[in-house]
Amino acid sequence: MSRKLIVGGNWKCNGTQDDVKRIVEFLNKAEVPCTNHIEVVIAPPAPFLPILRSTLRSDFNLAAQNCWTGKGGAFTGEISAEMLMNLNVPWVILGHSERRTLLGESDEMVAEKVAYALSQGMKVILCCGETLEQREKNETTMVVARQIKAVADKIQSWNNVVIAYEPIWAIGTGKVATPQQAQEVHANIRAWLSQNVGEAVAQAVRIQYGGSVTAANCKEIGSQPDVDGFLVGGASLKPEFADILNARI
Ligand code: PEP
Repeated sequence: MSRKLIVGGNWKCNGTQDDVKRIVEFLNKAEVPCTNHIEVVIAPPAPFLPILRSTLRSDFNLAAQNCWTGKGGAFTGEISAEMLMNLNVPWVILGHSERRTLLGESDEMVAEKVAYALSQGMKVILCCGETLEQREKNETTMVVARQIKAVADKIQSWNNVVIAYEPIWAIGTGKVATPQQAQEVHANIRAWLSQNVGEAVAQAVRIQYGGSVTAANCKEIGSQPDVDGFLVGGASLKPEFADILNARI
């Protein structure tokens, strides 16, 4: 099955208004393959979402980097899915390892967030991935399956979910997974979905690779059959992001 490529730019907690102008300028100039073949989703820090909404080209979409587990209210510092929809931000990244590790988000909390965001009509990039220690103990398949199962237990449809496989040891380290390592985990995720959710979902769900993706390594990773795009951190702040968008051509 041919799945539409999806590339996300996760700016994390970086940038000033001047940086935003500079990045939007190169994004707006970037030559990308036909948007029938690729979807581009930019995830700036939340305060910059409105300015990107009004200055970013309309064929690129926007994501938040987090949202709350339910309806907004007395949850100081949080962002609700309703607010994001109200701002015309249709995507949200959930379960990023930095939030799981630094902010203690459990599999269950991530699953609750995914279920609520979907219920509000949002589209979700669900991150999963193992630590180096878990990989070395051969626990990668189990850890990733556990993270995905928590979500599968809470949602009815995978139509608006993209999975981002991001090995924690590769995030921000410059230590990218080999194309074979990425392919192996992506194929295992698809196998898990096939056995536990259904073959149609397994074939349709897009799985991005994330972790030190650059213009130099994206083509090889992107050529793997179960890699449907990338979630890019550091390199999404640089003009080379435009080259990553062209990994498949
Ligand atoms: C990320 O933040 O999702 C990520 C993959 O970061 P980097 O590309 O910098 O490793």
